[in-house]
Amino acid sequence: ARLSRIEKAETTCNYCAVGCRFELYGKDGEVLGVRPAEPDSAPANDFSTCVKGKFGYDYVDADDRLEKPLIRKEDAPDGPVGREGFREATWKEALERVYEGLSEVREEHGSESLSVISSSKTTNEENFLCQKFARQVLGTPHVDNCARLCHSSTVAALQQTVGYGAMTNRINEDIAETDCYLITGSNTTESHPVLATRIKQNVRDGADLIVIDPREMGLAEHADQYIRTTPGEDVAWMNGMMRYIIENDLHDEEFIEERTKHFEKLKEKVEPFTPEKVEELTAVPAEELKQAAETIATADTCIFGWAMGLTQHNTGTRNVMSIANLALLTGNLGKPGAGLSAFRGQNNVQGGGGDMGPAPHTLPGYQDLADEEVLDKFADAWGERPPNEIGLRLPEMFHAINDDELRGMFIMGENPVLSEPDVDNAEEGLENIDFLAMQDIFLTESAEYADVVLPAASAAEKSGTFTNTERRIQRVRPAVDSPGKAKPDQEILIQLARRFGYDWDYDGPAEVMEEINDLVPIYGGVTYERLEEETKGIQWPCFDEDHPGTPYLYEDEFNFEDGKARFVPADYAKPPDMPDEEYPITLSSGRVLYHWHTGTMTRRVGTLMNHVPESFVTIHPEMADQLGIDDQEYVRVQSRQGEIVVKANVEDTSDPGVVFIPMHFPQGAINKLTQHELDPTSFIPQYKVTSVRITPL
Ligand code: SF4
Repeated sequence: ARLSRIEKAETTCNYCAVGCRFELYGKDGEVLGVRPAEPDSAPANDFSTCVKGKFGYDYVDADDRLEKPLIRKEDAPDGPVGREGFREATWKEALERVYEGLSEVREEHGSESLSVISSSKTTNEENFLCQKFARQVLGTPHVDNCARLCHSSTVAALQQTVGYGAMTNRINEDIAETDCYLITGSNTTESHPVLATRIKQNVRDGADLIVIDPREMGLAEHADQYIRTTPGEDVAWMNGMMRYIIENDLHDEEFIEERTKHFEKLKEKVEPFTPEKVEELTAVPAEELKQAAETIATADTCIFGWAMGLTQHNTGTRNVMSIANLALLTGNLGKPGAGLSAFRGQNNVQGGGGDMGPAPHTLPGYQDLADEEVLDKFADAWGERPPNEIGLRLPEMFHAINDDELRGMFIMGENPVLSEPDVDNAEEGLENIDFLAMQDIFLTESAEYADVVLPAASAAEKSGTFTNTERRIQRVRPAVDSPGKAKPDQEILIQLARRFGYDWDYDGPAEVMEEINDLVPIYGGVTYERLEEETKGIQWPCFDEDHPGTPYLYEDEFNFEDGKARFVPADYAKPPDMPDEEYPITLSSGRVLYHWHTGTMTRRVGTLMNHVPESFVTIHPEMADQLGIDDQEYVRVQSRQGEIVVKANVEDTSDPGVVFIPMHFPQGAINKLTQHELDPTSFIPQYKVTSVRITPL
């Protein structure tokens, strides 16, 4: 029965990874409103929410929510079909069809012909079950998730330099109270609005803010120093900054001596990057670079903040290693007010996308696939060993389908025909695959290719936990019932595993968390009982029930056997797709305040659509003049990969040679254009630098 009285749930925002907490009010399947929680139980947001957190809930009772399982009609054509291409089915029939479809592929082509994609929109418990479904039930190593596309380079770089692949510090006590910021590759005001508010408050109170970015956006207006860079040249200016700091004895010698290794290697690597050389390579003025270096190196504490402007490059891992080197060089780790602050994207990308291990190269808790003891531990718990070879990364999966290596796929909550770097390849893959099951709250652009679509519950309708960007594990609670027969992802996965003959008998997410406690050391003491009491959540690592959690990392030692951090010097290289005569303009991509990711939720929210109803390309007034383009006119944008038509927004946020298109819309989908090269370490795609030309229609 639908809840007929007003329900109040203390829960966590289902949009970005700031992880704001609030009270969500619901009645009869509709979210009525949001009230920020008291500061005591809202450690990240301290009363505030942004426009998405406050008004972004119309999608919950949207008319086109999936209410019943759908099975593709036998006479439906290949490729994407609308609702009319599917017939409604019972859960029994739909689960049977998924079981048969995946089993047939497995019988004919083996376990390794199957793959699973998990989602950071779903809870920790659901992501844990999703990777378990891949590894235990299907027996395939091919499981991955959307973190591959946003911060996999952050995780790879931080694991090599400081140990844990996560933000080192807290939002409130460190980001909101530091003496100095270096923010790069992040449109914080639009992508992490409440975080930006905390930074702006602190800057008003006297903290120094340096913003280094190709686009002069919201936070830059509040900066003491804004430096414009050319996209994709980050290693050069960071190496130059480090060289200047070392040359002028501004580095923290004591910290380097006592707590790090390989300083000499760093010194050697950065030696060629004089400020003048950096100016030649990146157009960053030498004097500006020196001034920024001095501000950072002489501050008592500094926060280094970044997002996908730094990570989504074929040099993404090297970019993040460079910012980690900079933090180590200036001794800005292991103390309050300092740290490496990766601003993660989705609400639960730290927990669901990383910590829970739906990734082809690591088990939950970043445990090593090659470690026999770890494999034995999972074997004891599950009755069989997880496959221990490294599986395919997300972008590789779609190539493997088109090479006939992958034949069946199960996707929970992702929309690859918009999010993949090569969307034509993703579309071809989903059309060619022998069997595709999708689990989602809407018939998304990707679900239209499926053989079976399973209707899931939204975050407003279920229980679980999310882990925010500061490693804080917080509760998610339901305020409304799911529409029709939709079920939480965890219940669907449990029923599916049972259909395959596995005795998954979890009585709710708390019991899934008990298994996580046993198998994932960094979550060892994160129980539901504690989360009821400790309303601020718990920051991992939290090794057992007596462990208080870890507000900031590396106070005593870094996460290596010898306790020392590593400088890992980074080589500089130009991006692979530089502008030329044919494609003279650099295209970059990102998020806008009113939308989120592939827009499946925010495109169904009237308040948000009123602000940004469609895709656009920002064009500098000088370039618009040169090309004969008027503001709000539709233009054709072409790259070496494809072309789209979008509206022109004439504005001067970037240099004349750089344009920007958001990533949220199927019409004017930017990934029709983007370059496909992957970072060799993390396999993150090069979304941020693509050469294009623009012509009026
Ligand atoms: Fe939600 Fe992020 Fe906005 Fe907070 S800042 S309300 S977590 S979208």
